[in-house]
Amino acid sequence: MKNGTVPQPYSALAAYGWDSLLDSAFAAHAERGLVPGRVARVDRGLCDVVVPAAADGAHVTHGTQTVRADTEDVFTRDPMRVACTGDWAAVDTAAVTGPAVRALLPRRTTFVRSTSSKRSEGQVLAANVDFAVIAVSIAAELDLGRLERFVSLAWTSGAQPMVVLTKADLVPDTTYLLADARSAAPGVDVRVVSAATGDGVAELAQALSGATSVLLGQSGAGKSTLTNALLGREVQEVQAIRDSDGKGRHTTTTRDLLPLPGGGVVIDTPGLRGVGLWDADAGLTQAFSDIEDLAGRCRFQDCSHSAEPGCAVLAALEDGSLAYRRLDSYRRLLRENAWIASRTDARLRAEMRREWKQRSAAGREMYERKRGGGHRKVY
Ligand code: GDP
Ligand code: ZN
Repeated sequence: MKNGTVPQPYSALAAYGWDSLLDSAFAAHAERGLVPGRVARVDRGLCDVVVPAAADGAHVTHGTQTVRADTEDVFTRDPMRVACTGDWAAVDTAAVTGPAVRALLPRRTTFVRSTSSKRSEGQVLAANVDFAVIAVSIAAELDLGRLERFVSLAWTSGAQPMVVLTKADLVPDTTYLLADARSAAPGVDVRVVSAATGDGVAELAQALSGATSVLLGQSGAGKSTLTNALLGREVQEVQAIRDSDGKGRHTTTTRDLLPLPGGGVVIDTPGLRGVGLWDADAGLTQAFSDIEDLAGRCRFQDCSHSAEPGCAVLAALEDGSLAYRRLDSYRRLLRENAWIASRTDARLRAEMRREWKQRSAAGREMYERKRGGGHRKVY
């Protein structure tokens, strides 16, 4: 699962996702006497960083400790570059003024929220996420449009989307729901779990072990309950009494970076939970790869798939292999996205696109190494 054996002295960080690729990226910092750490939470000018516990004389400890570190050295006005939860940092733990972050390692993936304010600016919510787990309750009616939107957002981040249909115990037969969800998320691992009975939880924990994951999805989808089930303990507070509309209400987020028993972490930042409009530009073509494939087979390159002869998209609608709903959903998301894009600062967007390209290359390489090849092609 890990990228080779994690060498000393950073083995304690393996539980937080440290691997040999990071080890080589960190070499120059190690020479300067800095230690690696994972950012757990960021406040103004300071952040909590998980670092290897200090070696006590001759005793090398295998634990970690969380230190509060200054981030002045990595200060930037660029909202895309500020330290965020999930970042790997080079930390000076010996500074007389207290621990300080001296540098951030390049990010593999980034979850960005574009605000819908007048001058939209991206905000980084989480870095270095491997899996974006989209929780969808099957107790409520399955909203495939919303699912597609979450899948697009996940692809945009550079993380691998995964769809988890929750509360399976409330539905006698999940066959059709599973098939529907799969049709809306091509190339994505879609599975069913019940935190109540434990069905599918161990398999999910196994799939996420060693990696960094986030749980996305609507309030009440069962994210806190599932997080607790994965962690094997009560960390996130679950609304015990149901609201009249049947949804649970999330009350407290205890911590942002939660280690999994089998290694790896779940990132649960308040920002990720309350996510609204995101820039799903880059992820749309992947979320709708089936339609993109069809469009590539249309007779005319600029086919609008409305009335053209030789249109492969219309042909697929005709023979039922493509659902009208899905094409509609794609068009709606494209329009919505163009609208957000028009409000976004051009420089920021250019930068995001460049970063995304680098990330997707790095992320793919890492994903392939982690999974040891043999998986389906995801791009
Ligand atoms: P969140 O808002 O996505 O974090 O959702 P919560 O984890 O707070 O769960 C919302 C509600 O769904 C709570 O009342 C939970 O008890 C309930 N719930 C969560 N998982 C399951 C499950 O597997 N089965 C059943 N029957 N209820 C669940
Ligand atoms: Zn066409």
